[in-house]
Amino acid sequence: MKNIFGLVVLVLVGLFLVIMLRTLMFSPPYFEMEEQVAFDVDAGLVAQHLSEAVRFKTVSPPEPQRREYKPFDDFLAWAEATYPKFHELEKTVVETHTVLFKWQGTNSDLKPILLAAHYDVVPVVPGTEESWDHPPFDGVIADGQVWGRGSLDDKSGVILMMEAATLLLEQGFEPERTVYFSFDHDEEIGGNEGAAGVVKLLKEQGVQLAWSIDEGSFILKDMYPGMDVPIASINIAEKGYMTLDLVAHGDSGHSSMPTKDASIFLLASAIERLRENPIPGGLEGVSLDAMDVIARHMSFTRRMLFANRWLFQSVIEKELSKVPPMNASLRTTTAPTLLSAGIKDNVLPGTATATVNFRIHPRDTHEGVIEMVRQIINDDRIEIIHWDKGSVASGESDSQAAGFEVIAKVSRQMFGPVVVIPGMTGAGTNSKHYASVADDAYRINLLVVGPEDIAGFHGTNERISVENLGLGTAAYAQLITLGTVE
Ligand SMILES: [Zn+2]
Repeated sequence: MKNIFGLVVLVLVGLFLVIMLRTLMFSPPYFEMEEQVAFDVDAGLVAQHLSEAVRFKTVSPPEPQRREYKPFDDFLAWAEATYPKFHELEKTVVETHTVLFKWQGTNSDLKPILLAAHYDVVPVVPGTEESWDHPPFDGVIADGQVWGRGSLDDKSGVILMMEAATLLLEQGFEPERTVYFSFDHDEEIGGNEGAAGVVKLLKEQGVQLAWSIDEGSFILKDMYPGMDVPIASINIAEKGYMTLDLVAHGDSGHSSMPTKDASIFLLASAIERLRENPIPGGLEGVSLDAMDVIARHMSFTRRMLFANRWLFQSVIEKELSKVPPMNASLRTTTAPTLLSAGIKDNVLPGTATATVNFRIHPRDTHEGVIEMVRQIINDDRIEIIHWDKGSVASGESDSQAAGFEVIAKVSRQMFGPVVVIPGMTGAGTNSKHYASVADDAYRINLLVVGPEDIAGFHGTNERISVENLGLGTAAYAQLITLGTVE
């Protein structure tokens, strides 16, 4: 008995030592501080330009045929007048309002790169106009910020790229590699004209890009609990998109004699089951690579958990699942977004419909998720209808390739000691198009944002700081400088 007790103590002490040793070894990797690079940027002027750009109501409506083209024409004319030097580059108009610029490199043996951004914006949700501190299309500059729809998503991208290129053109800079710039007009409704048109054109010309960079992430500040350094999440993949209608077929009739099988009861149970049973997920692939870097900068307890995943994997996954952005990186997410049923308060409707949106993790397929949903609901009175619009998750770009390294280096040079991770974008971006003509497609805007800024993304009080615009312009100039050499 004494021997067994002694053995248990020995094993526990051994386990404790292993856990502690692994935790102590689980520290941030050492990297040389990059020398900070300075460009002579007039941030106030960049802000002024973005402010003017915001005023064009280049709204992408849900149905493309409802698009009003005048603001798009006006925006493009304004850009040409504001950035004349940039507009001396070879320009091609694609699918009506996307513009592709080509800055010819001195060495045509090298694969070109592409910088892309979109200048269409999402509508302001009707009824929320009054909640904006400054009207969404006035381009007000106040409190050190440029306010308005598109200031973050993604007119700032377009403006910074034109500013950066102009800066370099004025300095007489000549890229070795050819640089393309694509400014897209329909990203918010899928990019099936603009980005798809650019891809078609490049394919026809036999152009294969070394890499592309487009929106899909930022340099994130205060976004992860316990992290005091900003994180440059250079996203190498994006999730897919699928929408299902769940149609409950239940008892209809007069509301004075309801049954338990009324369609709305059936539908409510089905939705409740989806809430209680998320699509299975796990920490692996890109999400694991990212957390492996982030966790090294966290508190001792968190480091201990991550350093000993062999023991704590399920605890970690459970904890991560409680934080929505983390949860989204672990699994295909389930989001009920629309409900409809009934015509009158005293009539039991025979059918009730819920629309549920899923963001498909790379490990899942549409068919696989539909089957899981069927099993979770487990009720053949619920019909499942698959919307045909959707997309599969992207492939993964290389987080060791030269393009990734350049973006990482520029992030450190321009924004100080940031932690660089590979990441995955939860929403769809035009990279799903560009990836087909690029060896690697990266998704990040070189701007520092925090939780409050992110809230404005497709939301209320969208804005970007003037300081950011200055740094961002310099960052893109440096990206073009370093990204175009062999
Ligand atoms: Zn966007």
